[in-house]
Amino acid sequence: MAIPFIDLKAQYALLEPEIRRRMDAVLAHGQFILGPEIRELEEGLAAFAGTRFCLTCSSGTDALILPLMAWGVGPGDAVLTTAYSFYATAEVIALLGATPVFVDIDPATYNMDPVALERAIQALKAGDPSLHPLPAGFKGLTPKAIIPVDLFGLPADYVAIQAVADRHGLPVLEDAAQSFGGTMGDRRACSFGQAAATSFFPAKPLGCYGDGGAIFTDDEALHKKLVSLRVHGQGTDKYENVAVGINGRMDTLQAAIMLPKLAAFPEELRLRQGVAERYSRLLGDLVGTPMVPAGYTSAWAQYTVRCDRREALMEGLKAKGIPTMIYYRIPLHLQPVFTHLGYAPGSMPVSEAAAASVVSLPMHPYLDEATSDLVAGAIRDVLAG
Ligand SMILES: *Cc1c(COP(=O)(O)O)cnc(C)c1O
Repeated sequence: MAIPFIDLKAQYALLEPEIRRRMDAVLAHGQFILGPEIRELEEGLAAFAGTRFCLTCSSGTDALILPLMAWGVGPGDAVLTTAYSFYATAEVIALLGATPVFVDIDPATYNMDPVALERAIQALKAGDPSLHPLPAGFKGLTPKAIIPVDLFGLPADYVAIQAVADRHGLPVLEDAAQSFGGTMGDRRACSFGQAAATSFFPAKPLGCYGDGGAIFTDDEALHKKLVSLRVHGQGTDKYENVAVGINGRMDTLQAAIMLPKLAAFPEELRLRQGVAERYSRLLGDLVGTPMVPAGYTSAWAQYTVRCDRREALMEGLKAKGIPTMIYYRIPLHLQPVFTHLGYAPGSMPVSEAAAASVVSLPMHPYLDEATSDLVAGAIRDVLAG
């Protein structure tokens, strides 16, 4: 029997009656756009994350672009972000005509290195690429915002990043697409920075059955702008338009599906933590297991290890019916789409080393002990062979 990389069917088997009941209620009341389940979900999400406001939207990508639009990010602006993430993090910057300025990561956490962030801002302000690698056209750029990513579910170092941001008067947009449920100190992911974006893509720790996302903030003025931008920049009336926005709403049906999933989520987080601990115990002497700094917890969107013989390991596991994935084989600064920015190979060495050696193992809340033993045993066999 093949082992799934992520097992959404096991979750559905547990939640099916409640998911169907909530979907049926939507079919009955017929408010498919911004129905009452949307508000109920937004309140539940804000309460979970510990923020004043939550606004659902059509995807994690739209959750990233909407705050940038609200802040007026556009041509001539530089947005500082990590060199190691899913493409959407940098894509939204470029889509608005602004320029991504990449910052290398911490080798232990895969998250933005706050020291490199400070250097990058200094380099931009001084127009001096000898301080930090800068993109082509850096001379005309003004730093406008920072997007750290909570990669694989682990929040970035928001104490250090916020200190840098405050020093330079820049807003922080937390890309929490992978980290909903993660914590730093007594705060949850999606509560850091001036705004946070998360994704409910089905494979994320908390997913819907299609595309969905949400934006979190404590800033009421920002929230109001986001409400307008989410629906075509609408004003006080539906057919009065005060800004250029998008059609970025989440479907009511997706909110209905997510409500039972949100109720089950704390238990699922506990189960994911158990799977990760077991993997780390079994694999510690075989591969580089994930590091979670003291005071943090991960939402374990991925369980990602380092291995010098990655390709052989993946091949060997595949032959045994065990799927693996690489997140990510190409760091953002070397993506073909960003060739014009002129980043040379070697300019973000920590991200490039990660891209060459990471591999993610099957991870979901319902991965039982027998299966984690089987995966670990297979890794031991393949690496011994
Ligand atoms: C998934 C993801 C996104 C995009 O979310 P979508 O819902 O797929 O649009 C953005 N950033 C990161 C880090 C992601 O993992």
